[in-house]
Amino acid sequence: MEGIRERRHAKIYVMGKRVTDVTTNLFLKPSVLSFKATFDAAFQEDTRDLARAFSPFINEEVNRFVHIHQGPHDLVAKVKLLRRLSHKTGTCFQRCVGWDALNTLYIVTGKMAERGDGVYRERFLKYLEHVQRRDLALAGAMTDVKGVRTLRPSEQPNPDAYVRVVEERDDGIVVSGAKANITGIAAVDEVIVLPTRAMTEQDAAYAVSFAVPLDTPGVVVVVGRQINDARRMEGGDIDGVPYMAHHEGLIIFNNVFVPWDRVFLYKDWRWTGPLVEIFASFHRQGYGGCKSGLGDVIIGATYELAKAIGVDNKPNVADKLAEMTFLNESMYSAGLAASWEGSKLLKEGGWWVNPMYANVTKHLVARFPYEISKLAHDIAGGIVGTAPSEFDLKNEEIKNLLEKYLQGVPEIPAEERLRLVRLLENVSVSVGFLIESVHGAGSPAAQKIMFNRLYDYEKAGEIAKALSRIKVTVKWPKTPEPRRPSESEKL
Ligand code: SF4
Repeated sequence: MEGIRERRHAKIYVMGKRVTDVTTNLFLKPSVLSFKATFDAAFQEDTRDLARAFSPFINEEVNRFVHIHQGPHDLVAKVKLLRRLSHKTGTCFQRCVGWDALNTLYIVTGKMAERGDGVYRERFLKYLEHVQRRDLALAGAMTDVKGVRTLRPSEQPNPDAYVRVVEERDDGIVVSGAKANITGIAAVDEVIVLPTRAMTEQDAAYAVSFAVPLDTPGVVVVVGRQINDARRMEGGDIDGVPYMAHHEGLIIFNNVFVPWDRVFLYKDWRWTGPLVEIFASFHRQGYGGCKSGLGDVIIGATYELAKAIGVDNKPNVADKLAEMTFLNESMYSAGLAASWEGSKLLKEGGWWVNPMYANVTKHLVARFPYEISKLAHDIAGGIVGTAPSEFDLKNEEIKNLLEKYLQGVPEIPAEERLRLVRLLENVSVSVGFLIESVHGAGSPAAQKIMFNRLYDYEKAGEIAKALSRIKVTVKWPKTPEPRRPSESEKL
């Protein structure tokens, strides 16, 4: 928190006003606290082992959020840590995008080095050391504002619709453009910028990746609004629970200078396709952990609310809770499968997730949270959308009446019920559990494209033909899954 308290040049705007200290600003403080949970995890008894890892790059233990995965065990630990941190925050904790960006650049610059271009690798490893030694909070900025969706970056009427290089100097480059929907952007030390799509030769100026501190001159951040966000500014202690939140924002690069030692991809458009694929799969895998963790919060609140009105043992409630559990554990299982089935993309490491299962994870996440929330609202009742304010409950004139009429079973006081209702409302209708689940790490259509790329329909057809006795000789591959290699695996 000290690190981000005073950033001299950082230009951060919330609801039309400039924010100088994000740690005390009422709108942003809940996001800072959620970020902080990722640092605290390395020192708390239950998460200490999960949240720490040994870094061979600096020969020291580091926070896992800046670690480069050294095998499937690390990928699994990521998913488990994310599930647990959702329990502690009840929201997105924002630090995984920067972490996935680090692992992506490690692999991509490593691949470049294997092909004989080691300059980016060298720069990246120095940057990694800088990040790991300081345990920095990073944002990953990928999604460009995109302008006209049917046009490529170089064809746009607004040439800055995608972040691009506008000047090359002896000491570095100057970049211009903006990235949208950037998770946690106002609460980080630095931001890593990655291209958002595969580029062609004409788009070379847009094929750029770099890192800058958030208070670099020319960087402007405009924080977006979310549902119920004003509750955190009301001074209450119930209506806004869990009082940790995440935010997304627009980051604008207004002719920003980036020194060469912080440029990790420069105009080499051929690497953009694999880079996007590697990053997206990393983040899609992670969703199996964080979203199932939020699912636990929702299932728990729903169960307690069912108890509060005496219906927890009713068969129809048990059936719905079982369905919620199935949906939730499916997301988690897919995230674990993507991790255990991970593979090495570099000769000396570069561990990556299984792209098919990572995409399956994200596709489940794009659907199941809505189902889980619907079932939760079904069991908890209309009160989730109609409960009186905590300030009514605290008003002596009506307090007794509300306590009498909000109570279900006598053992559970009205205030407890209201707290659970608010938790359920704020988590189950949140951007973090719903909208982010659909669009974060790529919208559902992007996963379907990957399914069609990765699934070997010809092989599946051969299997069917063999069983139908249309074809009798089948060349069986070593692995049972009908799978084609991804672009990154082919490199
Ligand atoms: Fe991490 Fe999940 Fe938030 Fe992504 S959506 S930054 S994986 S907590």
